[in-house]
Amino acid sequence: MRALSRKILDLEESQTLAFTQRARAMKESGIDIVSLTAGEPDFPTPRHIKEAAIKAIEADFTHYTANQGTPELIDAIIDKFSSDNDLHFSPSQILVSSGAKQSIFNALRAILNPGDEVVVPAPYWVSYPPMVRLADGVPVIVPPADSGFRPDARAIRRAIGPKTRALILNSPCNPTGVVFTRSELEEIAAVVKEAGITVISDEIYEKVVFDGRKHFSIGSLKSISNQVVTVNGVSKAYAMTGWRIGYMGGPEEIIRAAAKVQGQVTNHANAIAQKATVAALRGPQRPIDEMTGEFQRRRDRVVERLGELPRTRIRPPEGAMFLFFTVAPYLGKSVSSGMIRNPADLVVHLLERHRVALVPGDPFGSPDCVRLSFACSMADLEKGLDRVVAGFRELG
Ligand code: GLU
Repeated sequence: MRALSRKILDLEESQTLAFTQRARAMKESGIDIVSLTAGEPDFPTPRHIKEAAIKAIEADFTHYTANQGTPELIDAIIDKFSSDNDLHFSPSQILVSSGAKQSIFNALRAILNPGDEVVVPAPYWVSYPPMVRLADGVPVIVPPADSGFRPDARAIRRAIGPKTRALILNSPCNPTGVVFTRSELEEIAAVVKEAGITVISDEIYEKVVFDGRKHFSIGSLKSISNQVVTVNGVSKAYAMTGWRIGYMGGPEEIIRAAAKVQGQVTNHANAIAQKATVAALRGPQRPIDEMTGEFQRRRDRVVERLGELPRTRIRPPEGAMFLFFTVAPYLGKSVSSGMIRNPADLVVHLLERHRVALVPGDPFGSPDCVRLSFACSMADLEKGLDRVVAGFRELG
């Protein structure tokens, strides 16, 4: 067998991508599958953003840009952070990357030495622990709190030790849909200040918040503003997943080190997509409200339909585009294909017998849960929910 890197052999595959791809492949082979897997808005990218990209191509804006990002995009990001998040950066504190995923990895790679620990509260987004390992660090998982997946500053403090360098936060949270309140973040900030560690705050779902909630950025708390790297991007807010633009703002030395990583690996993010991102950030913001309104309607529908199942306990998501719920009452049942021992078996049962794809909770650090994405059209969602409900009913 060919020799491969031990670290990569040991690395788990991204399960959000794996289940999305599995559903896509079944669909492509002609099977009528409803995919409720990825957090990918189904809306088209707004017209004015697409036009900016077309104009960029026509104007031959098709060559290398600065590694860090174009000056006009960096300015637009500085203004966005300032007006939306009360975060105030100079240009040397911003790095544009190929998606928020790359931003997070660059930040981790920039700050970690072998064996350094990174605290990751569970449930977490699937890629955080593998990214920490890829960057030679050790993820230290904070077990999920009983209190409805709310962040728990005391549990975070207990997880911090002499080797801790960073804490990853994600609000609105993928997969739980919890939006951290200002007072919860203040409690965490006190812990972070005392420990002198860096926070990587992944705020990619910032704009998808429900029932009039407002997202709050932990980096705007003055006591720790020089300890926070704030990550965001245009994928979710502007339905621009395929354009791959993420960005971060943070302490200059971290940004400089992260830019060095990026300069050696990919160089800058796509030039045309950077132009489109300027149009997204500077242009009309109405499409965001329309999309969020639609996500809220879908959220309500998901909660209503799954509420029909007497043994399912649902907490309505406050933001993001997922419902994450325990399936413990359904485990241990037998169906024609065999025993449902865990959420992964349940997901396979739903996929193969009922033709609807979800993602099991294990890779999110919550082994008794499943994640259902409502980032698809209402028609697909209705069809998918019929199937999910039928699949659970079959389990009694
Ligand atoms: N972040 C999204 C999700 O959790 C997109 C897939 C991915 O990059 O993991 O579904």
